[in-house]
Amino acid sequence: MHLNYLALAVPFFLTFIGLEYLVARKNGKTYFKFNDSITNLSVGIAERLLDMFTVGIFYFVYDYLYRHFAIFDIKSSVLLWVALLICTDFIWYWYHRLAHEVTVFWCAHVVHHQSEEFNYTVSARITVFQAFIRTGFWAILPVIGFPPAMITSMLLVHGLYPFFIHTRTIGKLGILEYILVTPSHHRVHHASNPQYLDKNYGDVFIIWDKLFGTFVKEEEEPVYGLTKPLESNSFLWQHFHFILEMLYSARQAKGWRNKLRVVFGKPDNVDPEARKILEDKFLLRNPHATETPKLFNYVLWQIVATLMVLFSFLLLEHYVPVFIQVCVTLLILLTLINCGAIMEQKNWVFYLEYARYLVLCVAGYYCWPHPALPCAAALIMITAFYFQSHLKEHYLRLVYGYYRS
Ligand SMILES: [Zn+2]
Ligand SMILES: [Zn+2]
Repeated sequence: MHLNYLALAVPFFLTFIGLEYLVARKNGKTYFKFNDSITNLSVGIAERLLDMFTVGIFYFVYDYLYRHFAIFDIKSSVLLWVALLICTDFIWYWYHRLAHEVTVFWCAHVVHHQSEEFNYTVSARITVFQAFIRTGFWAILPVIGFPPAMITSMLLVHGLYPFFIHTRTIGKLGILEYILVTPSHHRVHHASNPQYLDKNYGDVFIIWDKLFGTFVKEEEEPVYGLTKPLESNSFLWQHFHFILEMLYSARQAKGWRNKLRVVFGKPDNVDPEARKILEDKFLLRNPHATETPKLFNYVLWQIVATLMVLFSFLLLEHYVPVFIQVCVTLLILLTLINCGAIMEQKNWVFYLEYARYLVLCVAGYYCWPHPALPCAAALIMITAFYFQSHLKEHYLRLVYGYYRS
């Protein structure tokens, strides 16, 4: 059987998240907030899922660059693996630093910093946009002459390490604090305390921060999240708010030079008023929002089910036809949008159920192309439209425990 064993990363990470949760609880610490953890996992699920489609492209790019532009003819040896690790980590430092210092890159990286908690779920909070930008930076490796197979193996190891530095349960690590990026160093990176801003960019080795003057020791207790917290659980808003803020500010700027300065300059050039203006336009907050156990249960079970689907889907990737892969991806993305919208207590989540139903019908018809299926699906849809107002009220009462039209 041709299984994709990389799927085992899902239960592996979940086990560590569970252990961290238990350790924190045993020590009487509240390192996990429900909404925050769910949104972190949602962003991570989307990235894992979309990676399935992008990994092949990345490998193709590395392979093309290696075959056409490689400067040196590098053969695999222990020393070269060490050299590759150091090169990868050095490029990461600059990719990460520029992700904070250049607006267009910050648009993708900002999502990783939105969480106001700091635990293993935060490490999952990486978007597919970030994966694209990172791959662009690492494209220098095949040009140097490192073989693509060597690079992808290294990126797997290099990608695993940062998972373990997103935790508050581990204190300082003695001598390792001088060489490696430790949880303490990365806590500083995620903090919004003024003295901690734009510091500790390293991924595996802390030496780059020390060399380029961006290192700071953890002393004061960090306050996590953005300097201007997002205060939204919306999956879509988290992904796109800063892109919209940048575009809005570029549109407002006079002349091409100023417009380019917004996009390629420091994120500080983005109009500070843009967030408020765009929130008023796109993010209608629910003034009656209350947190109910019913809502939590519905969101929690959807995420648990999604993680199970994701794991099986990744494991059996080679056996799933492309059309079904696209359908499952759509279904999962709709579910993540649904979970975010439910936590914001939006009434339009009801219409998302139509979209999920439609995707399920199309996938069903692909697997069982019998005319009875679309007929039955259409009949159910027409009945649902006919009783829509009752259905909607019933659904929203079920999810939120109350109904306000
Ligand atoms: Zn960062
Ligand atoms: Zn991080």
